[in-house]
Amino acid sequence: MAHQRFCKVCRGWHDLDEPWPHNCLPEAPQRSDLPCPSVIGDTMSAVQSQLTGKLYDSKSQLRAEYRQHGVVEVGNDPARLRPKPKAKTDRKAVKDAVHKAEARFNRGERTSDRMKFK
Ligand SMILES: [Zn+2]
Repeated sequence: MAHQRFCKVCRGWHDLDEPWPHNCLPEAPQRSDLPCPSVIGDTMSAVQSQLTGKLYDSKSQLRAEYRQHGVVEVGNDPARLRPKPKAKTDRKAVKDAVHKAEARFNRGERTSDRMKFK
């Protein structure tokens, strides 16, 4: 039996092997036919400040209040939770260390002599 998924639009089941029915696709946000960029405005439906309880319908004014109180907005980008990449191994430093050790060995230095070096 083919895999199926429940459709929230028509309340039926559709095969996942076939393209999702066009009528059941979520509606795309309404965009203008005019060639202009999507502008993100400053106004929003009223939001209560978590600091003072005041209501704001301006993003910039709410941010200004947060900044004034030293609050840092972190947003919801999951990338901020990813561990930072480890520093790459310094291949040149490893090579240099091996060459130095090789040179010491070839000069006939013993372990006790080597300990005098840092
Ligand atoms: Zn459907």
